Amino acid sequence: MTRSYDDVPIRPSNLAGPAPEFPWPHGMRAAMMLSFDIDAESAITSKDPSHADKLVSMSYGGYEARVGLPKVLELLRELDLKATFFTTGWAADAYPAMVESVLRDGHEVGHHGYHHLLPDPGSAHIEDELARGFEALAKHGVRPVGYRAPYGESCDELRTALKREGILYSSSWRDDVRPYRQILPDLTAGVVELPPSSCFDDWMHGLSTRFGARSIFPKEHVLSMWKDELDETRAWGAMVGTVLHPLVSGRPMRLRLLRNFLLYTIECRDVWIATGEQIARHFEACEAAGSTAP
Ligand SMILES: [Zn+2]
Repeated sequence: MTRSYDDVPIRPSNLAGPAPEFPWPHGMRAAMMLSFDIDAESAITSKDPSHADKLVSMSYGGYEARVGLPKVLELLRELDLKATFFTTGWAADAYPAMVESVLRDGHEVGHHGYHHLLPDPGSAHIEDELARGFEALAKHGVRPVGYRAPYGESCDELRTALKREGILYSSSWRDDVRPYRQILPDLTAGVVELPPSSCFDDWMHGLSTRFGARSIFPKEHVLSMWKDELDETRAWGAMVGTVLHPLVSGRPMRLRLLRNFLLYTIECRDVWIATGEQIARHFEACEAAGSTAP
C-alpha cells in the first residue's frame, strides 16, 4: 500500500509519555537487561527461504548451536549471571537441545517470532509468526512473558496482539533509557517496554558474513563504547538492554570482549544485572505501589 504524505499523522509516533523514574532494587544505581537473541539459521532464511540451500551462508547461523551458545552459557555460569534468550520458534524446533540447555541453566526464554520474519504493518504473517513461536516454545514447557521483535520492528497490530496473548513485556522500542508502559491505539495500557540499546547489538560490530560483508571492530573500540554507554547510564540511573547473539558473541575474540565487559559491569557494583522478566516485574511492582507516578 502506497501512502501519501497527507496520510502521515502529525503527532508523536509513541503516545506513551517519557518513562517514569523509580528506584532500582537492592540500592542499585542502574540496571542492565542482559539479553541474547537466538536466531540460528532463521537469521539467514528470514529474508529468502531459498537461502536454506546455500549451506555456507547457513553455516553462519549453525555456529550458534555448535559452538556459540555453549560458550556463552559457559561464560554465564563462570560469572554466575542469568540472562534472557529471545529464541525463534524455528531455532527451538530445529535445535531442541539448545532450548533445553538454556532452561537447564535457569535462564529466561523469550519469544522472537518463528521464521524471524519482519513484522511490517499489515503483513499476512504477523499472527502466524506469533502463534507458531508460542507452539514451539510450549514443547519445552515454556509460555514466554517477554517478546523481542525480529529485526527490532513492530506495529500497532503486533503490540495489540502481544497484550492479548498475555505478554508481560516487549524489548524493541529505541526511544527511552528506562522501562515504560506502552499505550495502545485505543489508549488502553499495553505491555511494559524495556528499550534495548543499539550500541549493544554485537552484530553491528562483530560479524562479517558472505551476504553481509563489513569491517569488524576490535575490543579496543567496542569495549570503550560499551563502557562509556554504561558509565553515563549509571550516572543517569537508567538501564541498558543488550542485543547480543551467541553466533556473534560466541566467537573467540568476541567472547573475550564480552567477558571483559561483564567483569567490568560486575565490578561497578552498582548495576543490577537482570533478565527482562525480573526488570519488567520490578517495574510492575513499582507501578502498583504508585512509585512510577510522573
Ligand atoms: Zn533476531
